[in-house]
Amino acid sequence: MRAIVKTGPTAGFEYRTDQEERASLAPGEVRVIVAAASVCGTDRELVNYTPAAEAFGLAFPVTLGHEVSGTVAEVGAAVRNVRVGDRVALESHIACETCYHCRLGQGHNCLNMKLLGLHLDGGFAEQTIVPEQACYVLPDSVPLEVGALFESAGVAVHAMLRSGHLLGGESVLIAGGGPIGLVLVQLAQAFGARQVVVVEPNPYRRTLAEKWGAKTIEPGPDAADWCRQDSADRGGFDVGFDCSGAPGALDTLLHALRREATAVCVGLPNQAYSLDITRHVIKQGLTLKGSFGRSLWATWDRLAALVASGRLDLSALISQRLSLAEFSDAVDLLSGDAAKVLLVPTVHGPFGT
Ligand code: ZN
Ligand code: ZN
Repeated sequence: MRAIVKTGPTAGFEYRTDQEERASLAPGEVRVIVAAASVCGTDRELVNYTPAAEAFGLAFPVTLGHEVSGTVAEVGAAVRNVRVGDRVALESHIACETCYHCRLGQGHNCLNMKLLGLHLDGGFAEQTIVPEQACYVLPDSVPLEVGALFESAGVAVHAMLRSGHLLGGESVLIAGGGPIGLVLVQLAQAFGARQVVVVEPNPYRRTLAEKWGAKTIEPGPDAADWCRQDSADRGGFDVGFDCSGAPGALDTLLHALRREATAVCVGLPNQAYSLDITRHVIKQGLTLKGSFGRSLWATWDRLAALVASGRLDLSALISQRLSLAEFSDAVDLLSGDAAKVLLVPTVHGPFGT
């Protein structure tokens, strides 16, 4: 079958047309025919093999792709909750289910976490074999392509829940108008925020954010002042999400929040930086939180209900559909005019590849 494989700790990847399909399943495993897999910034890090990618400790060789949907074709022995024919989206964080955090119900931050497409073969392939626990059965009304966005959209839902704010009637500031920031814009609107502002350098992404009713501004030295004035009646924003991880983004956010507000860090900065704790955390009284992955399965159920009810329109985030052979183009698109780029195995590239 065709597959995108990372073979070793250097930049690049292999596009294979003769990747062997494993014939038999171990107990607890599920064979999924991939419908779509979306490409994300982590994949770009993996292709370039940046220090952030190296820190994941990949298990080479590994098929990439961790934002995946498909149809179950076969189940191994002892599989209980998934059946042949089920349409599933895959959770990319595979928890051990036995460590302290897993036993506390915090499997999204498992001590022995394995990641799909990094430590286990992922979904940039025609089919993949995953543990049953990776499968979330989609509601009938949710198209498979939309299911491929659940993993990343779930990051936004989890960040909202982590904030402790339900956003209704609140001023919401979002740094980064990528796919996660854009889902947060939709969530803020769905829950009735009074004001949503997105700080984003890319004009294409700003246009999308504006389409969903957000005001937008480019990052820069005046961004924090502009934001604070925009919510001057309450002294700043009530809640902020840094979905970018970009240098200076969190600092802008903290300056634009009101006293006693909450900031949630979602995007991964490439390096450590310093923060003025006295000013922001102590005197300003901010609550600073991080959000990693999705809670199992509260985030997924809430997301599925929001999508099924039409309050969240993830399909509008799909900007391109490419073949597996065009993976390199898909990665390049991430820094251009794109929101979510899907690799669709049934789409064939130039010359039928
Ligand atoms: Zn991702
Ligand atoms: Zn665990």
